[in-house]
Amino acid sequence: MNVKNRIILAMDLMDLDQAISVTEQVSDYIDTIKIGYPLALSQGLSCFSKFKENFSFNIIADFKVADIPPTNEKITRVTLDAGADAIIVHGMVGDDSARACQEVAENRGKEIILLTEMSHPGAEKFIKPLSEDIARMGVELGITNYVAPSTRLDRLEKIRKLVGDDSFIISPGVGTQGGDPKETLKYADAIIVGRSIYNAKEPENAVMEILDGIK
Ligand code: C5P
Repeated sequence: MNVKNRIILAMDLMDLDQAISVTEQVSDYIDTIKIGYPLALSQGLSCFSKFKENFSFNIIADFKVADIPPTNEKITRVTLDAGADAIIVHGMVGDDSARACQEVAENRGKEIILLTEMSHPGAEKFIKPLSEDIARMGVELGITNYVAPSTRLDRLEKIRKLVGDDSFIISPGVGTQGGDPKETLKYADAIIVGRSIYNAKEPENAVMEILDGIK
């Protein structure tokens, strides 16, 4: 996936008009948006097609899919058929569950992004000890897209080493959660930024500040 300016907007506002309005304000600089449960559960999956109608953006569905393979298959199918270009899938549930999502995406010429480690403090306890194994599993499955945290750069660096330079890593936790854009982009291909942009008084300026910082 090509991500303009290496910034993905995490659109977690829950009102569609507001979400579209903020996205419009940054659309000169951003062409990839991540939509997760807050917006999709509030507005329905039709929010994907609404975004496609308004912007010619890449849409990443952040549903952190984590179920048994047949259920993962259904979730991935309905999400990608609703207009998402890629879907984020948990690695911790195992290779068969990830593979179920991968097959659906491959059949549609779409992508999955494997979640290795999350960015919040609570991820230290259970997910962090598993994340290197999750990354290795992704490589064995031939997965080329990963999520890894900007809030723990040592972990991001480690995961980069494991998945290789040709893999595509997107990294959340920048800004409000404390991650630094420039440092993160030493190891990640794109940063994911939510609240620091959509809660800013002037979202366009917030994006321009990030762009200045990563030059
Ligand atoms: O508002 P903020 O910039 O912290 O948003 C980060 C986004 O990335 C949220 O949508 C959050 O759900 C998501 N995310 C994360 N950590 C992960 C995977 C996704 O923070 N490992």
